Amino acid sequence: MTKIHNLGFPRIGAKRELKFALESYWNGESSRNELETFGKQLRRRHWQAQSGLDWVPVGDFAFYDQVLDMSFTLGNLPERVRDFHGDALDNYFRVARGRSAQSAPEAAACCSGVAAGEMTKWFDTNYHYIVPEFTAATEFKLDASRLLEQLAEAKAQGIAAKPVIIGPVTYLWLGKAKDDSYKLALLPKLLPVYAELLEALANAGVEWVQIDEPILVTELDAVWQNAFHTAYQHLSDCQVKLLLATYFGQLAENLGLAANLPVAGLHVDAINGRDDVEALIAQWPADKVLSLGVINGRNIWKTDLNAVLDSLEPIAQLLGERLWLAPSCSLLHVPVDLDNEQKLDAEIKSWLAFAKQKLGELRVLATALNQGRDAVKAELDANRAAIEARRNSARVNNPAVKAALADITPQLGQRNSPYAERALKQAALLKLPKFPTTTIGSFPQTSEIRLARSQFKSGKLDETSYKAAMRAEIARSVREQEALGLDVFVHGEAERNDMVEYFGEQLAGYAFSQAGWVQSYGSRCVKPPILFGDISRPHAMTVEWIAYAQSLTDKPMKGMLTGPVTILNWSFVRDDQPRSVTCKQLALAIRQEVLDLEQAGIGVIQIDEAALREGLPLRKSQWQDYLDWAVESFRITANGVADETQIHTHMCYSEFNDIIAAIADMDADAITIETSRSDMELLDAFEHFNYPNGIGPGVYDIHSPNIPSEQHMVALMQKAAERIPVEQLWVNPDCGLKTRQWDEVIPSLTHMVAAAKTLRATL
Ligand code: GLN
Ligand code: ZN
Repeated sequence: MTKIHNLGFPRIGAKRELKFALESYWNGESSRNELETFGKQLRRRHWQAQSGLDWVPVGDFAFYDQVLDMSFTLGNLPERVRDFHGDALDNYFRVARGRSAQSAPEAAACCSGVAAGEMTKWFDTNYHYIVPEFTAATEFKLDASRLLEQLAEAKAQGIAAKPVIIGPVTYLWLGKAKDDSYKLALLPKLLPVYAELLEALANAGVEWVQIDEPILVTELDAVWQNAFHTAYQHLSDCQVKLLLATYFGQLAENLGLAANLPVAGLHVDAINGRDDVEALIAQWPADKVLSLGVINGRNIWKTDLNAVLDSLEPIAQLLGERLWLAPSCSLLHVPVDLDNEQKLDAEIKSWLAFAKQKLGELRVLATALNQGRDAVKAELDANRAAIEARRNSARVNNPAVKAALADITPQLGQRNSPYAERALKQAALLKLPKFPTTTIGSFPQTSEIRLARSQFKSGKLDETSYKAAMRAEIARSVREQEALGLDVFVHGEAERNDMVEYFGEQLAGYAFSQAGWVQSYGSRCVKPPILFGDISRPHAMTVEWIAYAQSLTDKPMKGMLTGPVTILNWSFVRDDQPRSVTCKQLALAIRQEVLDLEQAGIGVIQIDEAALREGLPLRKSQWQDYLDWAVESFRITANGVADETQIHTHMCYSEFNDIIAAIADMDADAITIETSRSDMELLDAFEHFNYPNGIGPGVYDIHSPNIPSEQHMVALMQKAAERIPVEQLWVNPDCGLKTRQWDEVIPSLTHMVAAAKTLRATL
């Protein structure tokens, strides 16, 4: 009998219930007890949704983040909160979210202000975890209470519970040594605590424990590989069976290591690591479970169940009892329930599966393997029909787009002249001062703007009134920019809900869910648009707004677009063609918008690539291939313009060292980046590379309500000027201003413009 299980269920709730419960608790609108009770209800509901599985994950629920939960389980609280007394859950939220200094009596009762834990991307997903903090002196101490409580809850409900924990090697790898000590040196101190944890679980009657070690799909040096031997040797005499879980990629050179560790079973991602499966089966030990993740936990498409069965049936023959099936990874990365989608086009909906539906697919697979395909004939036939309908749909396939893609030549991504020549022509035309000032695109999204947009969407506001409202907002931002004395203006992005959704809504080939929420971090969720078909642009998307904005001023108005790579990386995309192909389709569509803006007299066009770095593959050996097509896509988008047209790009992140060559290869006339918090250190990468084009290192940290002073910004720019020739420098904020208030933005930008003037006079 083939067994089925799940690695993790989305905890945020089908309607983001956990988000609202958390926020109400944080705002003091509900009690601690209400929050706990709500957590219990949600867990019960989610376990019920997983009924029929042989093993159901327990411990995958977290009020904020599963890595932070693990830190608490291991007693590894950041030093700065260790003397906190008071309630454990409140301390947990303090570590997660930070807390400003409190009033004296409150501080005396518990704890003073504290900085939030650092957050970073969970492998190549859009989920972010709280980074564990270490020092050479870190000690661990087991607190299994949370896990044991949830286990007891599950047991009381008759759930076949399989606790889920993060493995010791991955846990260390995820963290950061605050004192630059060697974090792997903590392993000998960590392992006894894991052994204790497993013993506690065994005592609670647990049979299997899922121990996640996803770093096995990354490139590991010998020391880290060795740590796996040490760790699992140490844990090999525990009284529970360990299912070592890997996901998100291929084991590749770590395959032998993973397959031979002394554990009772191994889960692999049979979607992204499909190429491992044959080799694993060939050497699979007789006494071990092999769990194949055959349902994609990273996308929203139905699985081709008949095709999966074709490949699974011989494997099931061979492995018998030893074969388990599961989604490729935790379902944390997909929305909960497709049944909640009432507005989604019926045809497109018939191609999709969210978390609940994916578990339904798993049940069908198990029944087909265990009882024969006839036992689920109706389901398999319906699945085949859906897969074929999608494959052949005229809405997916647009021959004109495929033809345009086939016609791409290297010339398409090539500017007419090199940067130095373009820069002269642009300077003659734009007549910008030294240290030109600009902003990144958005201005504050006031409640009036949001209201107008949502009323227009729901039909309460007619198009004429909506457009009038947006134009008024654009006019306001132009007036403000005139008064501030900025050099290159923006229209402010009032009409945009989101930098990807706005374009997705206007491109053919995109669909939108109502409740397709995915947790990004803590209570924050994103609702990625669904890119289902060949991409085309039926009409201009931004020209009307930008041209209107330009008509109000003599200053250059920057056209504002989102780039193809960012649109790709922040969408659920097709699984029926390579990402590179989808990206180039997006590039061709946005290229048309660039050319239309130029046609309309817009002389400066910014193409945001905020998510370019996010798309880097997990393995460095695959980076170049990604960067090649990502950069080519950007170049196709941007480089059809005349020399006189100035192309900007914008990226808000802090690591450029390893991708600087690719950034230079994009050949934008100016790039604006996020630097204010790094004290300009990340300009080092640009300096060492002799980056030749314009750069605007952000001098205003837009994530903070603080109003930066003129001196502060001058000082930052002076540091920049130590690294980059002043002719190349722009003065601008770190990112868009949409989350700020006008009363913060006006003084900050006033100081910024003054700083630029000071710099012009002194440098
Ligand atoms: N143009 C966008 C804005 O200003 C850029 C946002 C981003 O980089 N995340 O809002
Ligand atoms: Zn940004």
